[in-house]
Amino acid sequence: MENCIFCKIIAGEIPSDILYQDEKVIAFKDIKPVAPVHVLLVPKEHIENIYELNDSNAHVLLDIHRVMKKIVKDMGLEDKGFRLITNCGSDAGQTVPHLHFHLIGGKNLGMSII
Ligand code: 5GP
Ligand code: ZN
Repeated sequence: MENCIFCKIIAGEIPSDILYQDEKVIAFKDIKPVAPVHVLLVPKEHIENIYELNDSNAHVLLDIHRVMKKIVKDMGLEDKGFRLITNCGSDAGQTVPHLHFHLIGGKNLGMSII
């Protein structure tokens, strides 16, 4: 997808701190981390947001889940816990229109959902 920052990161056109990638998913560090661990889990297929998923592409959720478990283990968060967030649309503050999940942890995140 032209002019999509995350598609450019996937294509290697923009540098990023990649922790893991396979055929379906890339995981890289957020450029503006809000916690000691702030990793973006991104399907390589360009899908605008979670609302755009349907029966034919919702399998990306399983791919994301698999990579989420790997990163959580690699980062040693499996016992301490973490938060997984996806923003959808303008009211949620989605700034990059390519589906992604924020994996956040490494400190006590408090009770707030945002
Ligand atoms: P959103 O606000 O759409 O839920 O999240 C987008 C996230 O992407 C933000 O947390 C932002 O810091 C991150 N981000 C935006 N541009 C880049 C970039 O070029 N590289 C990396 N690593 N993260 C980015
Ligand atoms: Zn994209």
